[in-house]
Amino acid sequence: MEGDSELQDLYRDVLLDYFRSGAHKGKLDPADIVSEGVNPLCGDSLLFTATLKDGRISDVKFSGHGCVISQSSAAMMAESLVGKTAAEAEKLTTIFKAAMTGKAPFAQLPEELEELKALEGVSKYPVRIKCALLSWNTLLEGLKTLAQGKKESAQYQETE
Ligand SMILES: [Zn+2]
Repeated sequence: MEGDSELQDLYRDVLLDYFRSGAHKGKLDPADIVSEGVNPLCGDSLLFTATLKDGRISDVKFSGHGCVISQSSAAMMAESLVGKTAAEAEKLTTIFKAAMTGKAPFAQLPEELEELKALEGVSKYPVRIKCALLSWNTLLEGLKTLAQGKKESAQYQETE
């Protein structure tokens, strides 16, 4: 259908805009959360760093390299996390993962995850889902480590 491909082009533009923007790219040092993730299936890797202030995430940066999907998902995630508590960040991750793995409709994503709807087309391709989820799974690993009172997480790795 022609309408569908138009819609997909638009979504791709959103992803490419994030990919090119360099938003939230870099590394925070010192940081309160340091977590590294790799997706060997595609060659994506990223280092996630975040600072906390008064119990809320005050800044988020990520570095690394990979495909447009993994990098744009990381940038959109970073944007949605600023101002959130660890518990809120974990909840957003659960909601996004449910949409990405087909357990919940994308239409139900909350306002702060609005931009992530651009990844709906990706959810039809299981291999690419790993790309989209890498940053979120890396974040979860970081939050788990934070809950243990530590900063640096063990490396997270996507598997088949
Ligand atoms: Zn990828």
